[in-house]
Amino acid sequence: MSLKRILFVFAHPDDESFTSGVTIAKYAREGETEISLLCATRGQAGKAGDPPLCSPAELPQFRERELYAACGILGIKNVELLDYEDKRLQEVPTGELVGQIQAAIRRYRPQIVITFPPHGISGHPDHRTISAATGLAVTQLAPDESPVRKLYHVTLPSTAPFANRHVHTDPEESITTIITAPGYVPIAAEALLAHRTQHLSVERVFPGVTQGDYANVRDTNTFILAWCAIPGYRIAGKESDLFAGLDTSTLP
Ligand SMILES: [Zn+2]
Repeated sequence: MSLKRILFVFAHPDDESFTSGVTIAKYAREGETEISLLCATRGQAGKAGDPPLCSPAELPQFRERELYAACGILGIKNVELLDYEDKRLQEVPTGELVGQIQAAIRRYRPQIVITFPPHGISGHPDHRTISAATGLAVTQLAPDESPVRKLYHVTLPSTAPFANRHVHTDPEESITTIITAPGYVPIAAEALLAHRTQHLSVERVFPGVTQGDYANVRDTNTFILAWCAIPGYRIAGKESDLFAGLDTSTLP
């Protein structure tokens, strides 16, 4: 087990590549950070591509394989899928979902946990549900049994050029953390393209990428520090490292 560990908690296969591509690629390759992903559904309510790459019945397995391929490209070491139904995450009893996330925290021992903001970026109810459950999972763990020191929401700044689409954003001043890693754009693009059944939404959000033009693939990801358990820690300006404030020689 690496010393530095990050757990991403999302709702669908592709959420990791849409929101956090260059950040995952960078941390997986620099500073010996172990990255894990808990994904609550197999994205079975999504499209199968145009023309379809599989039947609706095959879609969950297809998307699971696409997720494993994307995670392999990004460098995510541990990938765990839960069996919940896409678009129906809010029907799962909160305590059950929170318990699943806490089990993943006990298994992968992350100091950093990252999920959606409460608005879910796209506003998808599953995104909002996993955000709320992850917040509860982190804050309700007993301090002496939790390795988690920071919970982040990955978001988009309201000033971003892509913010005019139908997405929720956060004002620049509320963003605490900016990870810029232009060198990893080709890897982030490759991970997006690994979600082959999702090529229509990949192209809609990152125009050109399916034709090999990576100009619209984000070289920067932005985060809001939503919860922190580092005594006395205050952010001056913006963080440029998710592990800022942590003494990496004595990590839990
Ligand atoms: Zn999603």
